[in-house]
Amino acid sequence: MQQIYFMSNAISIVPHPVNEPVLSYAPGTKEREAVLAAYKEFCNSTTDIPMYIGGKEIRTEDVRNVISPQDKNHRFANYYYGTEEHVEMAIASALQAKSKWAAMPWEQRCAIFLKAAELFAGPYRAKINAATMVGQSKNVHQAEIDSACELIDFLRFNAHFAAEIYKEQPVSDDAIWNRVEYRPLEGFCFAVTPFNFTAISGNLPASMALMGNTVVWKPSDKQTLSAKVIMDVFQEAGLPDGVINMIFTDGKKTAEQVMSHKDFAGLHFTGSTDVFRNMWSLIGQNINTYKTYPRIVGETGGKDFVLAHNSADPSQVATGLVRGAFEYQGQKCSAASRGYIPRSIWEQVKTEMKRQLEEIKVGSPEDPQNFVNAVIDQGAFDRCKSYIDLAKNDPDAEILFGGKYDDSVGFFVHPTVILTKNPNFKSMWEEIFGPILTLYVYDDEEWKNTLQLIDNTSIYALTGAIFSRCRYATVEASKALENAAGNFYINDKPTGAVVGQQPFGGARASGTNDKAGSKMNLLRWVSVRTIKETFLSPKDYKYPFLG
Ligand code: NAD
Repeated sequence: MQQIYFMSNAISIVPHPVNEPVLSYAPGTKEREAVLAAYKEFCNSTTDIPMYIGGKEIRTEDVRNVISPQDKNHRFANYYYGTEEHVEMAIASALQAKSKWAAMPWEQRCAIFLKAAELFAGPYRAKINAATMVGQSKNVHQAEIDSACELIDFLRFNAHFAAEIYKEQPVSDDAIWNRVEYRPLEGFCFAVTPFNFTAISGNLPASMALMGNTVVWKPSDKQTLSAKVIMDVFQEAGLPDGVINMIFTDGKKTAEQVMSHKDFAGLHFTGSTDVFRNMWSLIGQNINTYKTYPRIVGETGGKDFVLAHNSADPSQVATGLVRGAFEYQGQKCSAASRGYIPRSIWEQVKTEMKRQLEEIKVGSPEDPQNFVNAVIDQGAFDRCKSYIDLAKNDPDAEILFGGKYDDSVGFFVHPTVILTKNPNFKSMWEEIFGPILTLYVYDDEEWKNTLQLIDNTSIYALTGAIFSRCRYATVEASKALENAAGNFYINDKPTGAVVGQQPFGGARASGTNDKAGSKMNLLRWVSVRTIKETFLSPKDYKYPFLG
């Protein structure tokens, strides 16, 4: 059937984006009651999580269990695992949906995702938050800032940025009109998302689709429940069939299959550095296969630092460390995981950290009093345990706080602070991705060398923070650490970037730094066509200089 779009002749203005307010979930609030009820509902049922290909729910014989990280014996959902056949189906469906979707007027595409934002903000808020709490073990505040607010912000701000991009046009000379068109990429796109942020998992496929692309989306096997809620909302918002195809398949095999396809046009990845490097190599190996050079965006690991100057307020430093390192069990790419504290304020910082850490409760997110919940799975638990055991047994390190772990019910690791005498101790440079912070106390006169040390210790360059009340020191550190972090914080923890306010991403081994939730990121998903129209075309080849 031939599709005829009734193009509007208006230049539409996207509603001005505003960050979604973070609800309090204080005792007695309506939102607390609603989210805890939704949490119970997930726990007391077995949710069925199909793949979604071409708008259809796909179930296979390979049914896998979804368990709660906080209650490992509790299966609360099933998901269906696919094979190469499903990858092929998803690619075919994305390619089939492409021309119709790409021809859809941009403001109509925006309207779908803006509607999805309102569904998440209203009728689906408790559900998406509860899914994130049950499936990814986030406390209610962490779920709210991620799966409700950040996801809503991505959808609202991206519509606004898309409009800004489309509006951007070149200048024109006499008797000509220059225009640029922002074409979607030619082919299909591939989004591969991590377990730790529901917002990222929704944003990666949605931002590509917003710009007119069709997508094969492979979420993490550890984030299936909230991924299902995202697909349900996108469908309810009116996303046409085949625009985003969600599959649960083996990551490595799927990457090999997708990246050897001639129509593969773009990768939007967030996850660990090694996986991204492997995918980039695959793209390199297949470079002669493609119709067009694929766009590659990857936001990857971190080893994020907090540096205190001796002018800093010790209680602010301690709070930045505690919140920065232990919120969501340190499973944020931006989590503070190495700290550098001057000897002159160390005792005060230590005392204040001790006071705060003694109050922190560890347990299931079902009890909102628990600040720290479970790490995502057995693998994460074992990794954390190995670093704690290393620190317990190495003469260069000691466990200052925490160091307890228990996987008898769920994967619980207590907030742990390692103190090391060796600034190159393993946990000062390797990404752990758990509630483990390593501190190094430097002599005050070693300030300049400490700046160099921070810059050179790790391969990553995602986030970093300086606490200082001396503007000279702040300026010096900002310059010396210019390339050590893509998001640099002054007197604040290095986590909690807000869409539209602190565009997020890092360089070096932390990624391509294309800043999710910004215009810079959306520009990666379009390919510009320039059109020059001449109103008075010349009728002879001779230029005036030829006489
Ligand atoms: P991961 O790399 O294990 O998995 C990410 C995705 O890749 C998942 O969908 C997974 O199934 C898939 N995958 C796994 N192996 C693959 C392979 N060989 N080929 C193709 N795909 C494969 O990461 P994770 O544990 O889900 O997330 C944690 C990591 O993500 C951390 O390293 C963290 O720093 C990083 N992260 C970075 C950012 C950022 O913005 N820089 C944000 C969130 C998370």
